[in-house]
Amino acid sequence: MQFAAVDLSELIARCRAEIERHCEHLGQLDSAIGDGDHGANMRRGLEAVYRERAEISALPLPAALERVGLVLVMNIGGAAGPLYGTLLMELGRGLAMREEAADFAATLAQAIGAVARRGRSGPGDKTLLDVLYPVQAEVAGYAAPVRIAECARRAARGTEMMLARRGRASYLGARSIGHEDPGASSCALLTVTICDYLKDHAPS
Ligand code: ADP
Ligand code: MG
Repeated sequence: MQFAAVDLSELIARCRAEIERHCEHLGQLDSAIGDGDHGANMRRGLEAVYRERAEISALPLPAALERVGLVLVMNIGGAAGPLYGTLLMELGRGLAMREEAADFAATLAQAIGAVARRGRSGPGDKTLLDVLYPVQAEVAGYAAPVRIAECARRAARGTEMMLARRGRASYLGARSIGHEDPGASSCALLTVTICDYLKDHAPS
């Protein structure tokens, strides 16, 4: 799919609706191993992006993604705000420097690297990165959207058995085991929403 064909306004509306629908669940996941605010944080972020969707979708995709990142940093708050913000801003900046969508996977990898540096975290720390890394690998392998979505769901579930080494959940030590990471869960939710959008708009 050509990026120019993405209706960002519709995609933003879908992401906002999914976060709204799962807000309570994300809050419950965060109550188990954090402070319970992840659903509310994500809702605040997506609501802010939704309010700006007309201006955002009028921009070329790289600038639009950068703007989404900025709005997320300013509105999600908590630990997740700067991390989601970094992801989107770096993705936007990276795409602006490349020819068309030639190497989206490489740009995504570089943006994920920036998130990891920002959070001083890596694979297996029980964070949203544990969804982002495997998703990037599927994107790099040109997997179909359904497969990428399934990978994201599986990766989020996979954080359940991990020991948290970063963020509030790490204060719990071994007691963090047995609970899915809220950031990984929201990240999978958004990935699935984007994949569903791409599937629905695939050229037939
Ligand atoms: P807070 O922890 O400040 O209350 P949220 O509840 O909104 O913020 O977000 C928590 C999520 O942020 C975690 O579930 C985890 O996925 C992610 N996270 C927290 N700290 C880090 C970190 N250092 N690196 C990567 N991700 C992190
Ligand atoms: Mg929290």
